This record gives sequence, structure tokens and C-alpha cells, in this order.
Amino acid sequence: MKEKLSRDKRMSSIEENIKYMNNNVAAAALASGRKPEDIQVMAVTKTVEPLYINHAISCGIKLIGENRVQEYLGKVDSLVVGDWEAHLIGHLQTNKVRQIIGRVSMIQSVDSVKIAKEIGKRSIDAGIVTPVLMEVNVGSELSKFGFSMDSAVEKAYELAEIKGIKLHGIMSIPPISDDEKLIRQNFSNIKGLFIDIYDKRIDNGSMIILSMGMSGDYRQAIIEGSNLIRVGSAIFGMREN
Ligand SMILES: *Cc1c(COP(=O)(O)O)cnc(C)c1O
Repeated sequence: MKEKLSRDKRMSSIEENIKYMNNNVAAAALASGRKPEDIQVMAVTKTVEPLYINHAISCGIKLIGENRVQEYLGKVDSLVVGDWEAHLIGHLQTNKVRQIIGRVSMIQSVDSVKIAKEIGKRSIDAGIVTPVLMEVNVGSELSKFGFSMDSAVEKAYELAEIKGIKLHGIMSIPPISDDEKLIRQNFSNIKGLFIDIYDKRIDNGSMIILSMGMSGDYRQAIIEGSNLIRVGSAIFGMREN
């Protein structure tokens, strides 16, 4: 009985959180001269049980993000059938690539040319092309992985050459901060890099996704140009681990 109560409570808070977030997303989109539907909202579902992920999907979530291959593959068969998609957003090890190919619609966390080549190779084996984002590191403690800002343009050219993958944009995890100016500056720098790469038409103009902004800073990220935010705790509550 007690368990059911807390479950029901969590369900309704997920629903409220999504409504609240959607309102914020719409306001930030309009403030940056875009339409609410121009911003993709990803629910980050690491450590979240399928019951709650399914509830988020029933509340209109169309995109989920998972960090770990094993965790995702362990949960995906318990998720409702529907028009949602999943992206991998965590660091990928070479020996896990084969298992994830074809199981997610995008890998956002391509953080080396080596892993990009492995994804390409395994995708060709599977007869598919895997859409990817390059992860760019702006000096965050959180993002140990990723290409440096300085090397990103050059690396984008290298990634564009690899068969079996298609580069669609940038993902970044800037440092979490209370300093509003610093938050905006980091997002703005990443947007600048995104425009640089876009303008070079490296991959026939398929650089269209700028994935930045998490629970604490998604409004600022949208104002600075993000078109895909990745929100975990602001939907599902604080993670215990
Ligand atoms: C966990 C995670 C998020 C979501 O973080 P919250 O602060 O809970 O919103 C977003 N992106 C990546 C890559 C993550 O690992």
C-alpha cells in the first residue's frame, strides 16, 4: 500500500515536471525567435525503471537518452511500443559498439575518431548508416570525454569521411555553474563552433542538431541556440547514484 502510494506520487510528479518543463521550453524557444516544436526534448532515463520511463512516454516524451549500453539493452524490451526514439549519450567502449548498432536511432557521444570508425564499420556490417553527433568538451569536470574546441573543426572533416556514420551535429556538457554569465558564454561558444562547422558544409549541410542543456541550464541553452535538450533529474527527480 505504502509502496503504491509512493509510486503514484512519483508518477504524478513526473507528469507535472514534464508540463512545467514544456512551458519553460516553449517560453525559451519564443524568446530565441523559434517555435516550441523546433526544440527536441530528451528525457534522460539512466537509473530510471521502465515503469516510469513508460509513464514519461505516455506524457508525450518522444525521445529518451541512456548512458550505458548494458543498462539500455536490459530495459528496452520493457518499454512500450510507440513512436519514441532512443539515443545513446554516454561514453561508448569499442567492445560495446556491436551491441548498440541498430538499437538506438543516434549516438550523440562520439568522442574520438577511433570510436567513430568502429561505429562506421559495425554499421556497414549491419547494412545501416548510424547518425551521430560529435561530443565537444568545453573543459568540464563532468565531460572527461570529447573533442577539444580547438580540434573540433578539423575532426569534423575526419568524421565526415567515415563510411557507415553520418555526422548530424554537436553534443556538449559544459560545466555546471551558478554563474549565469559563464553558463551563457559556454553555450554561446559551442553555438559559435556549431555555426563554423555548419558553414563549411562539411557533410552536405546535415549538421543540424545542437544538443546542449540539462536540468539546471536548459533554458539558457535554448536561448543560446540549443535545439535538443537532455533533461534527467528535472523530470524523474534526483538520482541516487
Ligand atoms: C545524466 C545526463 C544528462 C541529464 O542530467 P540532468 O542534470 O539529470 O538533467 C544529460 N546529458 C548527459 C550526457 C548525461 O549523462
